[in-house]
Amino acid sequence: MAHTVLVTGAAGYIGSHTCVCLLEAGWRVIALDNFSNSSPAVLSRIEEITGRTLAMIEADVRDHAALSQLLQSEGIDAVVHFAGLKAVAESVSRPLEYFDNNVAGSLALLRALNLHGIRRLVFSSSATVYGEPQSVPVTETAPLSVTNPYGRSKLIIEQMLGDLAHADAEWRIATLRYFNPAGAHESGRLGEDPRGIPNNLMPYVAQVALGRRPCLSIFGNDYPTPDGTGLRDYIHVMDLARGHLAALNRLFRHSGCFTVNLGTGQGTSVLQAVQAFEAACGHPIARRFSSRRPGDVAACYASCEAAETLLDWRAEKNVAQMCVDQWRWQSLNPDGYRDCASASQQPVATPQS
Ligand code: NAD
Ligand code: UDP
Repeated sequence: MAHTVLVTGAAGYIGSHTCVCLLEAGWRVIALDNFSNSSPAVLSRIEEITGRTLAMIEADVRDHAALSQLLQSEGIDAVVHFAGLKAVAESVSRPLEYFDNNVAGSLALLRALNLHGIRRLVFSSSATVYGEPQSVPVTETAPLSVTNPYGRSKLIIEQMLGDLAHADAEWRIATLRYFNPAGAHESGRLGEDPRGIPNNLMPYVAQVALGRRPCLSIFGNDYPTPDGTGLRDYIHVMDLARGHLAALNRLFRHSGCFTVNLGTGQGTSVLQAVQAFEAACGHPIARRFSSRRPGDVAACYASCEAAETLLDWRAEKNVAQMCVDQWRWQSLNPDGYRDCASASQQPVATPQS
């Protein structure tokens, strides 16, 4: 019989693509989201792509009653926990919201899972826990340090998970440290839909390409990198989604916990990323150099050996493919999911219904 997985934050960027992967692999998916940073319209897009249905529950992970009801009734075998806030700058100005949503949210989820005897979890961590890497590629054993409340929230959750697994060997936990997710589903029907001004490079570039923003500011051209701009490890969101499937599969085969990087192992500079996007969209992207963004590191890309060994997973798509898919999504959906008024009227279940 198919396993049932609860996906928190399922309507978000990475969650929605992961739901596609899970449904296509035959899993039964229960999706939970409070839509604080996403749209219910995502549900019908996932169903349209996969030809499968999923239950979407509108609830907050901190809502104990809603969570308990769900865990009691749905026969859940494992959880993939994406729900959380992710904007670094916002976390600096609103730290308590980040600790409440991310740390208290994860704690509430873990308590509820413990209570209901569900002890398989995949957690969304981030390369941000490496702070300024002392060397690249970054391995999972590199020293951890954080420079902002968002990063601290991820590190605290990682530590919480470590303590929990130490106290109770029944827990099977996969901590996935994502590098820089980019791209979109190749159908052009699912993608990243940031509210307001995008914080990250790829969605910003996509909006400049579309004419929604006049010009990209490149934050710094005096880094100790080949062209002076920051180096990052962009990973296609569908490769990332497959990484979650691989992690879940491992949790069903092996006891214990593990932490792996999910990246490509390749560093791409801001200028290289912009050039790849220009090739994808077929026209120049206005850009200017500006000062460094506070807190940015010069170079961060992953060592991918642990994911290859433990999960038999490696990224397959390159930056050119990420840009092609991101541009398809952006040009077909210039206002993101706000374009699909009819789809957003899909009914969404609440735990009470
Ligand atoms: P996202 O904002 O698109 O998705 C997160 C989803 O969680 C949203 O749909 C939001 O509405 C929901 N959510 C937030 N708080 C909630 C709560 N308390 N209860 C229920 N739902 C809630 O973000 P994403 O890019 O898909 O990221 C998913 C996870 O991956 C996050 O935990 C993020 O920190 C982590 N991550 C993201 C990146 C990135 O660059 N996108 C990098 C590393 C790690
Ligand atoms: N960046 C930029 N302009 C932007 C957004 C980002 O030059 O508008 C640069 C940033 O300085 C970094 C790279 O692009 O070198 C990736 O930034 P992003 O915020 O996407 O990821 P992170 O820095 O969190 O890894």
